[in-house]
Amino acid sequence: MDYTDLYIDGGWHKTDDRFDVINPATEEVIASVASADIADADKALDAAEKAMADWAARTPRERSEVLRKAWELMTARLDHFAHLITLENGKAGADAKGEATYAAEFFRWFAEEAVRADGMITHAPASGARILVQHKPAGLAVLITPWNYPAAMGTRKIAPALAAGCGVIIKPASETPLTMLALMPLLEEAGVPPGLVNVLPSRRTGALVDHMLHDPRVRVVSFTGSTGVGRKLLKSAADQVLKPAMELGGNAPVVVLEDADLDTAIEGTMLAKMRNLGEACTAANRIYVHENIAAEFTKRLTERMSALKVGDGTDPSVDVGPLVNADTRDKVAAFVADAVAKGAKIECGGTTPEGKGFYYPPTVLSNVSEDADCVQDEIFGPVAAIQTFSDQEEVIRRANNTEYGLVAYVFSADFKRALQVCERLDYGMVGLNRGLVSDPAAPFGGTKQSGLGREGGHEGMLEFMETQYISASW
Ligand code: NAP
Repeated sequence: MDYTDLYIDGGWHKTDDRFDVINPATEEVIASVASADIADADKALDAAEKAMADWAARTPRERSEVLRKAWELMTARLDHFAHLITLENGKAGADAKGEATYAAEFFRWFAEEAVRADGMITHAPASGARILVQHKPAGLAVLITPWNYPAAMGTRKIAPALAAGCGVIIKPASETPLTMLALMPLLEEAGVPPGLVNVLPSRRTGALVDHMLHDPRVRVVSFTGSTGVGRKLLKSAADQVLKPAMELGGNAPVVVLEDADLDTAIEGTMLAKMRNLGEACTAANRIYVHENIAAEFTKRLTERMSALKVGDGTDPSVDVGPLVNADTRDKVAAFVADAVAKGAKIECGGTTPEGKGFYYPPTVLSNVSEDADCVQDEIFGPVAAIQTFSDQEEVIRRANNTEYGLVAYVFSADFKRALQVCERLDYGMVGLNRGLVSDPAAPFGGTKQSGLGREGGHEGMLEFMETQYISASW
């Protein structure tokens, strides 16, 4: 591996303390990565502060052109990044290429948004003063990303932060730091000045992040990961009243109404369930199918799931790679065992294979009971858990019966009825007759304990900006 050290102030820094990155398909060590400590965090903060002073003063057009160049360079190297993603995360080649493309798109989208930080001017109704409203860069941002999208969860934060004029320190997940490190030479080539973007892998994550969140120069914490860690970070962020952006866990319901077009519903459910082999916050977690079409739906979904080829993601014929580590794989197996103990039937899959690699087969469970653990918690793996319903009101209530509110999916051929159902779902996003909602041009994010704030869309850049109002007379 070429880039395994800390990236601070545009340079590479070795450390004595290092940790291993494992290929989930082979269980072999593929890299030994530097682990940042508090002194490294201070160096990164100093560098980011210095670089941001110049960057924030540049015109939006100049910032935009650097981001646009980053998109061009990454788009020319998608295969390289996809390969790295597969090596450290395990996902199949097509999933990895999809992620690399999605990741690059954030640079293009925010290159376009950088020049559109619109303000406002109006007359105050009573005093006659002018109200001027503008957006300014919020300050240094600490970005913490998960292992399930090693590239995209980083670029979804870096691109809007840079568009807004902020400097950043990124703490990538310890399972998958290599992709983010490999992105740094590309950003240099695109014209990102030294110090503006710093990457600190670390195995002392909690202490390192907590230290940075208590540095007075930091004004934004943007986190993607589990709700449990998000809660801790919100508590730390409270001490300095930081601007928090929290993209947390999900428990996505899929609602297949009786009038759904079955081809569309199967296609959409496959995508919502199996994109990233289920290791996605947006993954279909609870599949509610109307009782009159449940048998046919289950048969067809089982056929599609059984036909997927499992193996090392570097083999281009493979559809489903290994899970990221043994814990994640064992947690998925435990969800299946629990569901079966509570009455579920295994339609396909359901057995952990022998041998190397953290594999788990695509699995369909029918007759899953409402109190099964996989209905209550995120499965984060290739298991489709099907339940039935008979009444629209009942399924809306069951779909909303969770502390999460990231994304829901609805399938129905009756558009009016479908929209009525969508509006009553307590979710930040709804896929209607579609199994994919992620789009750099759309505001991605959840309600309830799925998070705060939005990434992408017009909203994404505002997470890294403060609104300033000037009351003026002339
Ligand atoms: P995680 O355990 O919460 O870890 C995410 C990141 O937080 C990693 O970089 C991790 O570092 C760091 N971290 C762990 N403990 C920390 C602490 N005490 N203080 C500061 N940082 C800490 O989540 P994950 O297992 O990587 O990712 C899966 C979760 O992410 C799922 O719940 C999924 O739904 C969620 N997710 C949400 C979205 C969304 O947009 N809503 C997108 C993708 C994933 P280490 O790796 O060093 O522990």
